Amino acid sequence: MNKSIINYQPIIEHIYQDLLLRKNYGEVASYIPELAGIDDEQFGICLAHVSGEIYCAGDWEPQFSLQSIVKVLLLSMAYARLGGQLWQRVGVEPSGTPFNSLGTLEHDDGIPRNPFSNAGAIVISDILIDLYENPRQALLEMIRAFAGDESIQFDKKVAESEKNEGHRNVALVNFLKSLGNIHNDVDEVLDLYFDCCSVSINCQQLAKTFLLFANNGQTIDQQHRLLNRSQTKRINAIMLTCGFYDEAGDFAYKVGLPGKSGVGGGIVAVLPNEFSIAVWSPRLNEKGNSYRGLKFLEQFTTDTGQSIF
Ligand code: GLN
Repeated sequence: MNKSIINYQPIIEHIYQDLLLRKNYGEVASYIPELAGIDDEQFGICLAHVSGEIYCAGDWEPQFSLQSIVKVLLLSMAYARLGGQLWQRVGVEPSGTPFNSLGTLEHDDGIPRNPFSNAGAIVISDILIDLYENPRQALLEMIRAFAGDESIQFDKKVAESEKNEGHRNVALVNFLKSLGNIHNDVDEVLDLYFDCCSVSINCQQLAKTFLLFANNGQTIDQQHRLLNRSQTKRINAIMLTCGFYDEAGDFAYKVGLPGKSGVGGGIVAVLPNEFSIAVWSPRLNEKGNSYRGLKFLEQFTTDTGQSIF
């Protein structure tokens, strides 16, 4: 049965063309040197619908660095195994702080406000070391299964580059350890976190992977399931409230979808029971979110009226 009512192709292409004519703003994430050299005018989009239809435009084929978008997948892997027990180690409140903030940790006894800050994702990485024999392999296999693409890989150069320069994350993991919320060796935890952030993915692979959050935790052919319906609802709620750090309210207001960004310039957003949409454009605004990605999604939900509100 074909559930898709809207032909998204002309809508996506129209907004894409319109934004290409407008001035682009922002800077690439040069604090990870390996990301700095990218052609920063690239701009791609892919929408994957639960009906199986796919709509793409622009530079949807080149791969980019998943970065913080992976935090949703890491959280899902931990939540699938631990259930509500997970919330003893990390909260579900929006932080209102930048992604790499150390600010609230001391006051909160080392419990990160939510799993999408770096602190939160580093705690989740620590938890995954205890839950999975080989968490890297488990992550890769999960992404490959949901994207339907066995070629997806970590980018060792990006991970190395971040390991050499990731001083704030080194501070975070040590601070968390001193506050009792890291159980494993700090280097082992940070290596896992950096490796996971380094996954290379393109817009279509990303949209297909995140279709699981539009499809109650499973692939549309029902061959793979990560989360049950209730767990999926909760992860979507955390994406809505915490997916864009101190810009989460703005994203909910302007776009109205659960979503997650990464400093590779990717943004993925989900309309439950309908679609997931991935947008990639490397130039970031001052909050670390893709400038054009945000503009595209704002226009898309405005033109289509397709948002959760
Ligand atoms: N790996 C990046 C970091 O830890 C992820 C940040 C992001 O994408 N917002 O700084």
